[in-house]
Amino acid sequence: MHSQNDELEYQLDTLAIRTGHTRSFEGEHAEPIFLTSSFVYENAAEAAAKFSGEVSGNIYSRFTNPTVAMFEKRLAAMDGAERAVATSSGMGALLSVCMAFLKAGDHVICSRAVFGSIVALFEKYVAKFAVDITFVDLNDLDAWKNAMRPETKMLFIESPSNPLAEIADIPALAEIAHAHNAMLVVDNSFCTPALQQPLKLGADLVMYSATKYIDGQGRALGGAVTGSHKLLEEVFGVVRTLGPSMSPFNAWVFLKGLETLRLRMKAHCENAQQLAEWLDQHKNVEKVYYAGLPQHIGHERATKQQQGFGGIVSFVVKGGREGAWKVIDNTQFISITGNLGDVKSTITHPATTTHGKLSPEAKQAAGIQEGLIRVSVGLEDISDIIRDLDRGLALI
Ligand SMILES: *Cc1c(COP(=O)(O)O)cnc(C)c1O
Repeated sequence: MHSQNDELEYQLDTLAIRTGHTRSFEGEHAEPIFLTSSFVYENAAEAAAKFSGEVSGNIYSRFTNPTVAMFEKRLAAMDGAERAVATSSGMGALLSVCMAFLKAGDHVICSRAVFGSIVALFEKYVAKFAVDITFVDLNDLDAWKNAMRPETKMLFIESPSNPLAEIADIPALAEIAHAHNAMLVVDNSFCTPALQQPLKLGADLVMYSATKYIDGQGRALGGAVTGSHKLLEEVFGVVRTLGPSMSPFNAWVFLKGLETLRLRMKAHCENAQQLAEWLDQHKNVEKVYYAGLPQHIGHERATKQQQGFGGIVSFVVKGGREGAWKVIDNTQFISITGNLGDVKSTITHPATTTHGKLSPEAKQAAGIQEGLIRVSVGLEDISDIIRDLDRGLALI
């Protein structure tokens, strides 16, 4: 962008490619990586002015770094946010939000259907600081209302959820939160700004694991929080002081990832839709969880809230654990790994990996059956992906 301040007038694809690059005196065309931990000054007076905050400028890369700042500006623009703060990982993003806004005596309500480490972050670590946590069903709005207390500060959700692709009613949850002066925080790692912009639906803060689709090629760990200037100033204070800052190299990887994000997400959605429809017809598949299928309980809401149904397809095969493992072990190229959001398709058996620590009762409550398989549908040719899964499915 030749001039600043008019970035929000552009469409998403333009913002993704053009926002945030402040060209240096070298006139470089691609975004530069500033691999430097600190910055130098012409003289003592300039150093003093920058340290005091009288003059803005870089001091140390735990606080600010030009490449990280480019990533933050670009992500904020794509999310329709006033500001973004980058972090070392998705978990670092949520930790920073908790450190910024929670104190002893506060209460948090969290959806049951969230990423496993997030449950541990709340139950094992945030709870240590005398913050009370209640877990409720994502789609039971009465349960959310009933769980509210005067000291409730934060509602936390992930939508679509993992692995069953439940879709939250984000505007309704925002209303419940705001009626009690609490904030709604949404984990948007699965949709990314390319498919969903939770701030526009009423959320106060959005968090990302950039490790997933924002990188999209399985290379780097990172995270981010987006929202208003007021709230993000608090998050920035935590990151610069406590240190879960993003590395400039990783910021550069994510910055370039944002440029192709919408195209990749569109292709992930197309492959996932085709796979879900094929699985739905397969005689050895009992149930498919993908919001792009009209019979999925979240289909209608996803159509309203999202600009696509995403790249994660889960399904239950006949034969329980044995059937599921047969499908997984007969793949030739789909990677057996818990990671997701990559151009490479990945396959997981949630009951014995991501959700393996849950008790049998908790698994049942969360809908994690033994025959359940989760596929993060990559960008290989869909006919090859289908053949790779059919090899094991045919043997059940
Ligand atoms: C991976 C993931 C996280 C954690 O992010 P990291 O970058 O691994 O720290 C949080 N939420 C969701 C939905 C994720 O998939």
